[in-house]
Amino acid sequence: MPVRAVALTDFRNVASAEVHFGEGVNILVGDNAQGKTNLLEAIYLFALGKSFRGAKEAELIRFGAELSALRLDFAAGGREQTAVIRFSGGKRTVELNRVKLRRMSELVGTFRAVLFCPEHLSLIKEGPAARRGYLDIAISQQRPLYLQALQRYNVALRERNKLLKQADENPRLFRDTVDLWSAQLAEQAAVIAPARLAYIRAVEAAAARIFADMTGDRELPAFTYTTGFHLEPDRCADADAVRERVYGLLTSHLDRERGAGSTLWGVHRDDIAISLNDRSARLYASQGQQRSLALAMKLAEGEICAEMSGERPVFLFDDVLSELDSTRRAYLTRTFADRQVIMTTCERDIFSGEANVIRVEGGVYR
Ligand code: ATP
Ligand code: MG
Repeated sequence: MPVRAVALTDFRNVASAEVHFGEGVNILVGDNAQGKTNLLEAIYLFALGKSFRGAKEAELIRFGAELSALRLDFAAGGREQTAVIRFSGGKRTVELNRVKLRRMSELVGTFRAVLFCPEHLSLIKEGPAARRGYLDIAISQQRPLYLQALQRYNVALRERNKLLKQADENPRLFRDTVDLWSAQLAEQAAVIAPARLAYIRAVEAAAARIFADMTGDRELPAFTYTTGFHLEPDRCADADAVRERVYGLLTSHLDRERGAGSTLWGVHRDDIAISLNDRSARLYASQGQQRSLALAMKLAEGEICAEMSGERPVFLFDDVLSELDSTRRAYLTRTFADRQVIMTTCERDIFSGEANVIRVEGGVYR
């Protein structure tokens, strides 16, 4: 699903720009703080329905401007499509092929992209939230029902935690309603956990292939689902087993949860254990290995997306090549050759393959 063009008005440091892309590798070259990442952020907004930097709308509008407009032209499902997003005064509107959508999240799944940025190194080294975020973003793009289950889960979790915190002040309300929220969490977990298990297995298969090529068979990664509700990963394929386990835990330790003031079991505590040649990547992987692992997870995301939807997503790579040795770089150069890639770099020479070069200076793209 190639991106044809993106047009920006008063977005970040860009006053007005229309940038066209080729179907192969496109490189945004420029010094620091010129607007390279801003352009990737704009494109990924259409895939994610929000800023990947967690920015609020007001931060996206160019300083001093009142409103911001973005247009993306892309091909998907065998036809040319156009999506438009506008922000102004805390309001936003979204259009797909001239039809107004009710919510940004309705865009998710129409235009698919995979993003890699330096922050993704936290996928390997930091706490479980980053890894859950990776799963949620990747699976939501494939399956709208997953996103819906996740949203319902999060609402139920917030409500249940509030109840647990206020249980002493309001014991009656607690007694009457806690079970409803426990059942709702179990119900949604039964959708979320099987999807996460299937996804992690697919990532492992794809990442093993990628690593074999990238390192000449010297490194083998493994990805294991670690559930936040004491169920062996293999059993998570069974939705009923998940529902029963989560519901069981959430009904039999209420005193402990009241003491903690929060829900102690469920998919909000899930994680992925990542290892390289049987050793924990978090504890032992080098800088370059961490980068390679995070990158393999992202490339795997693209492969899985292509298998499931029949269309390769667009790869958005923010400063991906630095810190990689020449063998790994050569692998990426080969791999990128038959994909649409939009990547940023300060140094043109870091990528040796053929590419459409776009120079970036002060929010202007040439
Ligand atoms: P680096 O190589 O350092 O990653 P970059 O080219 O990726 O640089 P960007 O992250 O795209 O740089 O940011 C470019 C500039 O955009 C920054 O200097 C930032 O101050 C500016 N900027 C961010 N938000 C806004 C905004 N709302 N209005 C105007 N300028 C903004
Ligand atoms: Mg940048």
